[in-house]
Amino acid sequence: ANLDRIAAVDGDLHAFLHVSSDEALATAAEVDAKRAAGEELHPLAGVPIAVKDVVVTKGLPTTAGSKILKGWIPPYDATLVERIKAAGLPILGKTNMDEFAMGSSTEHSAYGNTKNPWDLDRIPGGSGGGSAAAVAGFEAPLAIGTDTGGSIRQPGAVTGTVGVKPTYGGVSRYGLIAMASSLDQAGPVTRSVLDAALLHELIGGHDPHDSTSINEPVPGVVAAARLGANGDLKGVRVGVVKELSGEGYQAGVSARFDESLDQLRSLGAEIVEVSCPSFGYALDAYYLIMPAEASSNLAKFDGMRFGLRVEPTDGPVTAERVMGATRGAGFGDEVKRRVILGTYALSAGYYDAYYGSAQKVRTLIQRDFAAAFQQADVLVSPTAPTTAFRFGEKLDDPLAMYLNDIATIPANLAGVPGMSLPNGLAEPDGGGASLPSGFQILAPAKADDRL
Ligand code: GLN
Repeated sequence: ANLDRIAAVDGDLHAFLHVSSDEALATAAEVDAKRAAGEELHPLAGVPIAVKDVVVTKGLPTTAGSKILKGWIPPYDATLVERIKAAGLPILGKTNMDEFAMGSSTEHSAYGNTKNPWDLDRIPGGSGGGSAAAVAGFEAPLAIGTDTGGSIRQPGAVTGTVGVKPTYGGVSRYGLIAMASSLDQAGPVTRSVLDAALLHELIGGHDPHDSTSINEPVPGVVAAARLGANGDLKGVRVGVVKELSGEGYQAGVSARFDESLDQLRSLGAEIVEVSCPSFGYALDAYYLIMPAEASSNLAKFDGMRFGLRVEPTDGPVTAERVMGATRGAGFGDEVKRRVILGTYALSAGYYDAYYGSAQKVRTLIQRDFAAAFQQADVLVSPTAPTTAFRFGEKLDDPLAMYLNDIATIPANLAGVPGMSLPNGLAEPDGGGASLPSGFQILAPAKADDRL
């Protein structure tokens, strides 16, 4: 049914870069046979899933949304893909994304735009717009995203889906094509919290292949999600982060946020205001640390080892000139912008002023979180300041695009878990049909079950 749905609507949505029909049907048949033989199966066995194209999948093309990896077929599976396969979830295919996960609209994909199922003239968020659109467009019940600065939660918010960024280290990064290694985290995109919890528990947990993976049992998020369905929030202190609301937030988004607070109050929660003064510098710190790490991670795309190789036609074919020609042709503008920014921030003479300062800000943000979690059990904010914007609206203005991540980035800088829930429809600025808005919840590191 999902493959039929993809055939019917993906021509319009373009959520998928590759559909793996044969492999998906083979897995489904295997699961059916095991079920018929009375084998005990994982609760998600047979439930199809879409995987963001930044996650390597053995035998299936993996491009990270970039021309530089066009035609590359990975020889191994990411750990999270191994776990998905072992549990018998048919993989429907690979989803579109901003090139190397850099963006908030999926417009930076080298393979064309993904459309928001709610309004085909609007962006599905980014970088994981393909995964969110696949779930929102009923092409897939479950999807995998990755979140370096909001790429699971912001697409979730603008498509009306549930997006969870686990605690840093909660899900193995082995087999994710790295953007910024100290910030990247994979997680679920789904239509319900329980689905997200089931998927989170499946892909989470220690992995010796990832040295930053937490060597402890996965938090009991499934049991917590079932308990949470009782809707009793008595004694729970919910902290509203002063710096993540108000000015710059669309009127409709703020209205839905206030209603969500009322609802939490009516379920027994105590709402308190908390202040995190350093969050005002989160975006600045992120856009130094992230490009710095990315410039280093992307050095391996050199025309020698993976994918594209372009030889210069106007002179000697030296290694350096092949690298230059390959990277010049293979990377898009946003990737080049960030590689240049990151290289500059790390260079001698500027390192302390830029990268060093950004790391200090990161520590201040972590301290703000620690103080806020003394006053509140969870923190909340709108996930994104606006509902889905129109294609092209922010494409020529990188800073306007970056501002969309203002509420999601602090969690990555501190490594804490975050989740976006749909909280209704809001009228876009300038009028038009109402569109989904998102409610973000943040919890202390390793307290994913509290989310
Ligand atoms: N939109 C943010 C960026 O462009 C976050 C991306 C992400 O989380 N992968 O960097």
